[in-house]
Formats: sequence, C-alpha cells, structure tokens
Amino acid sequence: MGIARSRALVGEGWLPGITVNRNQEVGGGQVPTPGSRLESVSMSLRDVIIIGAGPSGLATAIAAKHFGLDYLVLEKGSLVDGIARFPINMVFFTTPELLEIGGIPLTTPYEKPTRAEALRYYRKVVDTFQLQVSLFEEVTEVEAATADEAAEVGAATLFQVHTRNARGVTRVREARNVVLSMGYYGAPVMLDSPGEDLPHVSHFYREAHPYYRQRVVIVGGKNSAAEAALEIHRAGGHVTIVHRGQAFGDSIKYWVKPDIENRVKEGSIAAHFNAQLVEIRPTEVVLDSGVTLPAEGVLLLTGYRADADFMRRAGIDINPETLAPAYHPETHETNVPGLFVAGGQVAGKKTGSVFIENGRFHGEVIAKTLAGRM
Ligand SMILES: Cc1cc2nc3c(=O)[nH]c(=O)nc-3n(C[C@H](O)[C@H](O)[C@H](O)COP(=O)(O)OP(=O)(O)OC[C@H]3O[C@@H](n4cnc5c(N)ncnc54)[C@H](O)[C@@H]3O)c2cc1C
Repeated sequence: MGIARSRALVGEGWLPGITVNRNQEVGGGQVPTPGSRLESVSMSLRDVIIIGAGPSGLATAIAAKHFGLDYLVLEKGSLVDGIARFPINMVFFTTPELLEIGGIPLTTPYEKPTRAEALRYYRKVVDTFQLQVSLFEEVTEVEAATADEAAEVGAATLFQVHTRNARGVTRVREARNVVLSMGYYGAPVMLDSPGEDLPHVSHFYREAHPYYRQRVVIVGGKNSAAEAALEIHRAGGHVTIVHRGQAFGDSIKYWVKPDIENRVKEGSIAAHFNAQLVEIRPTEVVLDSGVTLPAEGVLLLTGYRADADFMRRAGIDINPETLAPAYHPETHETNVPGLFVAGGQVAGKKTGSVFIENGRFHGEVIAKTLAGRM
C-alpha cells in the first residue's frame, strides 16, 4: 500500500510529520478562533477513528470512551446529519426509548418522538458525554497500511484517514482502527432515467410548502413517498404517485397507510401502480406505458444505499447480490483487520433491516473487541 507516514498534507503544502487542526471537535476538542491561521499540532495515532456522527457512530464513541479508548468521531455535516436532513415535520415510527443511547432518556410529550426532539436529544447526549466529534469534516478515503508499516509504529493495524473540511482544507489522520458508521441516507438509489439531474427533480423530500399549486410526481410506494404525498396534498399541491408495485408497501406507518390508501381511493391523490418512470422532461414525466404526466416537481423517493464503492476502495469485500459488506457478526470487523462497520453501514440493499433501535448496539460490540486487544 505504501502509506506516506512521514508526511501529512497540510493546507497547500506538505509538512513532515505534522498535521493541521482547525476543526471544531465538540467536547474535549479544540475550538477554532474565527479567522485564525492554520494551526499545527503533532500527529496523534488514535486507537480508533469513527466515521459518521449518526446514532450508531455516537453510540460507538460512548462505548469507546467507556472502555478508555482514544477515539475521535469525524462527521461530514452537522451532528446526526442524516436525521437533520429528514423531512422537517417527520415523526419517528419508533417509541422514544428505542432511540436512546448511552442510557440518557429521550423525553417527549408524544407517543413517538419528532425529528426536532431527536436532534435536541443527540445534542444533549454529545454534551453529556463530552464526546470528541469533528463536524463538517468529510472522510474521502480510508487507507490501510501494510503490516510492516503498522509494526513500525508498534501497532497491529494502522490506517490513514484522508479528510476534507467544509472550507476545502485536507488533512490526514491516523488510527489503529477505523469504524465506518456512515449510514446510507447520503446515497439515493438512482433510477438512471434521462432527466434525473434536472433542477426540479430531487431524491430528498424536506417540506410541502414549495409544492403549493404545483403538480408533483412522486416515485415510490413506501413510507417516504406516502408521507410526502399526504403532506403535499394537504398543502395545496397536486400529487400523482408512480409505483412499480401493485400496492403501497406493508412497512408504511400504521397511521399513514389507511390515510394514503383512502386519499387514492377517493381520487384526491392520483396513483399509477405497476408503473415505472422512464424519462423526466422539464415539464412532464414519461411512464413505461407511454403515459405522460405534467409535473413542475418530481420526487424520486426510491430508497438509499450505503456507499459500496467507498467500502470497496478501503478493501472491504462487498456481496455483489446484497451489496452488504463482509463482516464478522460477533465483532463487526470486516475482512480488513482493524476496519469495522456499524449501524446502517451493514445493511446493503436491506436498509429496512437496520434501524436506530438495533444499530445503536453495534458500537458496544466493537469497542469491547478493541478494548480486549489493547
Ligand atoms: C425518512 C427516514 C425515517 C426513519 N425513521 C426511523 C425510525 O422511526 N426509527 C428508526 O429506528 N429508524 C428510522 N430510520 C432509519 C434510521 O434513520 C437509520 O437506521 C439510522 O439513522 C442509522 O444510523 P447510522 O448512525 O448508522 O446512520 P446515519 O444516521 O445515516 O448517520 C451516518 C452519519 O455519517 C455521516 N457520513 C456519511 N458519510 C461520511 C463521510 N464520508 N465522512 C464523514 N461522515 C460521513 C452522515 O453525514 C451521517 O451523519 C429512518 C430512516 C429514514 C431515511
């Protein structure tokens, strides 16, 4: 592999053996001074770098801290950025205690917590445990060193983690182990239809207001599509659902399913089942039946996948059928020694199999494994 250990990329140049620290690391980390120049600190070799500050990454950090490991979480966006980018008015289908991590209670006056309550909750968790999180620092590559290179620094395994922050500053961090907890919400399943990149097309739904008095085609038949359709319909948009299945999915929230089915039955929301979208044009979409539907807005809510290419580049074997990474179920270690997967990262195509309520326990298993090796 040939890792350049003696040189870390700093801003515009290369400096021997040092790297730069100008990101805010929440709790225990350094707070940047506004307008301050690049600041250099000695490169530290962490026990573990955790990539992604979603629920599973934070749960891993709490467990790592509990076992006395030197850890750092790197997050490309804001804290729990996946949840932050959920539809603004989203209500979880999970009861609050199943979203909890670190034994901190999530309180809500409602039966199910809202997105806003979950955001407040995870901020509180990070503050309570004073977790070390570097926000707005995206990991671009994870590179495993050879056994000889690791042995040079007295480690069994060694990784270089290449990052870029929101201002374009790149850096290289080093760790004995790495946990990928990057979720799947960043990578939508693409339809690969012409027009998918047009400006009125999105794979993410945020809120209904912009669709008032607009004709909106929503592709998908699961929860996200059903909820977006109902909200947009009630905000004065004209919705048509296009779904390749013959009916709405069974996994739709129990309070949403009868609502969407009845709106379709009464005709206030139009639906084309057993139908596929084959082209998106600036003012209409085309279905495989040849039917065209006028549309000022198009929402492609057809699911998301963990980034298999990123994992492949890091050396992880990916099952070509399921797109799931190869990992040991008892340790969550992949086929690359020292490289672990947690939360939505393990799901492959089956994103419906990993939720916060089960993914939050992966970190404890990993931290225990690492602590046993130290
Ligand atoms: C609309 C919607 C509703 C849902 N509702 C529920 C529910 O009610 N109950 C439930 O249990 N589950 C629910 N889920 C599933 C749940 O959100 C996921 O299972 C959970 O978020 C997975 O947690 P995670 O920490 O693995 O991933 P995420 O929460 O996705 O966190 C991954 C983090 O990694 C960061 N990241 C990604 N790539 C990089 C990179 N290269 N460098 C640095 N950081 C990176 C992301 O920005 C993100 O913050 C829902 C999912 C969706 C999409």
